[in-house]
Amino acid sequence: MYVISTKAMLQKAQCEGYAVPAFNIHNLETLQVVVETAAELHSPLIVAGTPGTFSYAGSENIVAIAGALAGQFNQPLAIHLDHHEKITDIETKVLAGVRSVMIDGSHLPFDENVALVKRVVDYCHRYDVSVEAELGRLGGQEDDLMVDGKDALYTNPQQAREFVERTGIDSLAVAIGTAHGLYCAEPKLDFERLSEIRSIVDVPLVLHGASGLPTSDIRQAISRGVCKVNVATELKIAFSDALKTYFLAHPEASDPRHYMVPAKTAMKAVVKKVIADCGCEGKL
Ligand SMILES: [Zn+2]
Repeated sequence: MYVISTKAMLQKAQCEGYAVPAFNIHNLETLQVVVETAAELHSPLIVAGTPGTFSYAGSENIVAIAGALAGQFNQPLAIHLDHHEKITDIETKVLAGVRSVMIDGSHLPFDENVALVKRVVDYCHRYDVSVEAELGRLGGQEDDLMVDGKDALYTNPQQAREFVERTGIDSLAVAIGTAHGLYCAEPKLDFERLSEIRSIVDVPLVLHGASGLPTSDIRQAISRGVCKVNVATELKIAFSDALKTYFLAHPEASDPRHYMVPAKTAMKAVVKKVIADCGCEGKL
């Protein structure tokens, strides 16, 4: 069993004081990079995809490729549904073999968010699938999900406790000042709020929007209870920048077996840096 849920891996991270990275992947090459690098560094691994990614690459294809790579590298991993909003969509992907889910009802009023998440938890726990949900709202853009900065909302600690108790979720994504996409100005994270949430909520906490965050912020967040760190934008930029540079230098290039190599190398460097920031090398 190489494709697992995030439950045990995040609980271990919480006990031992490190975080597991969730890398957003899109295709064969990006999956190869994250699995190969995690295996090299003996790091626990979550590969994540938004609804847009799963429709682009095909759910069965992602599950099959990730599962095959996991076996080939002897690297157990979680395939995680990032920012999914529809129950039917989640059910289909769970039946296709996914064992880790984020249900994002963060745009809904509190009681409706609770009701939606509880339905997903009831379904997922029957299949030993772990569930993450978000309270509060991150600004920025991730695929089709766009939240204006003025609509971003920080997580309320007391509400977070009630949310976890009423839904039975396995992990909670918190909004403490990070945003999706890249930062225009240095973000100011509300670490006091994070510590307050940690003191009254017992499930592992998740930090979205870690692309471009300084290492010191990531370490500080982990020391205050974050056990899962999501990275998407930074990987895409490294990959596509290297590709553009390669084509500028080799305009005649047409063989993906050549032009994909520098892109994968550039992405691998980011994956290594994130694993170092998370303190999860050797923690598999
Ligand atoms: Zn996110």
